[in-house]
Amino acid sequence: MNSSKAYFELIRIYPYLIIRDEPLKNHTWFRIGGNADLFCTIDTPEILISVMKSARELEIPYVLIGEGSNLLVDDRGFRGLIIKYYSDSEPELDFPNVTASGGLALRELLRYAQRKSLSGLEFLAGIPGSIGGAVYMNAGAYGSSVSEILKSAVLINEDLIFEKVPKDYFHFDYRTSVVQLRKVYVASASFRIVPGNSNAIQKEYDRIIAIRHSKHPDETLPCAGSYFKNLPPEKPGENRRAAGMFLEQAGAKDLHVGDARVFENHANMIVNAGEAKASDVLKLADRMRDLVLEKFNFELIPEVKFLDAESGIEGMQP
Ligand SMILES: Cc1cc2nc3c(=O)[nH]c(=O)nc-3n(C[C@H](O)[C@H](O)[C@H](O)COP(=O)(O)OP(=O)(O)OC[C@H]3O[C@@H](n4cnc5c(N)ncnc54)[C@H](O)[C@@H]3O)c2cc1C
Repeated sequence: MNSSKAYFELIRIYPYLIIRDEPLKNHTWFRIGGNADLFCTIDTPEILISVMKSARELEIPYVLIGEGSNLLVDDRGFRGLIIKYYSDSEPELDFPNVTASGGLALRELLRYAQRKSLSGLEFLAGIPGSIGGAVYMNAGAYGSSVSEILKSAVLINEDLIFEKVPKDYFHFDYRTSVVQLRKVYVASASFRIVPGNSNAIQKEYDRIIAIRHSKHPDETLPCAGSYFKNLPPEKPGENRRAAGMFLEQAGAKDLHVGDARVFENHANMIVNAGEAKASDVLKLADRMRDLVLEKFNFELIPEVKFLDAESGIEGMQP
């Protein structure tokens, strides 16, 4: 079946769910990206499975995204189906664990934890994105990451069947997990929490968010957080070395390509100062990487994921 027939058939099966030619810039924090041929927002894992099965049968490539806060989307958009997993269902508490949908925003989980006086998640305050994206990326800050609090997760596995897996499954490392290498999706995740005090938890959120505000661009300068990964510590037990420090010393702060600019307060952030294209961001990132390579003789590795119009996200078959 050719792709337009397959598209037609998928829309026929899910007439109220799937739309055509959706601008992906409306679904990324960078505000960059062309149109997806097909697009849907899904809030239940059972429907996720059903749509993925149909797309597979019709040989339509598909990619699942969360909040798009760590994504740079191709200017050509995506030739296939983008599935946005979004949920607003309340987390479930089964002390000492709290379980949330993979499509729930991290900030909603944190809000719930504060209301219920549950501590342990505070370091995630101010990090955008969904629970699924946070597990995929092993998101974190200030030396802590999701890997330290995750207990288990329910995946949609390669056979499009639910599978409960323990934390060890994920082989977490700095800003990476096995989910980046396999065609599996985080339907829900359970985190270990401890009893806390809701006022103290709120104070800690506020403290962390104030620090982040002082370092990060505001909403007028869309970005995807740190562009490159920080470097491993020089000696075991020490902190990671900030990519931003090397970029600053290499003179990257004044660089720009079109409207893609290095953020003036943080050399490891690329901002969209207007109508930046993905191609501008990629060129700018190459220049930043080259400067560091020339001065320090090592290559920075991107943390932001590129979504290619044909091949999807690097390392995963669409
Ligand atoms: C202003 C700003 C500040 C940031 N600060 C931080 C920070 O301090 N620390 C940090 O770690 N990150 C930070 N980030 C990056 C980003 O917030 C995280 O990487 C976040 O976890 C991405 O989640 P998402 O839902 O937006 O994922 P998306 O950007 O939508 O997707 C990222 C990847 O995750 C995959 N994915 C998404 N959902 C699922 C799922 N349910 N199952 C399987 N795969 C999935 C997608 O396929 C994609 O490959 C920041 C970003 C911004 C814009």
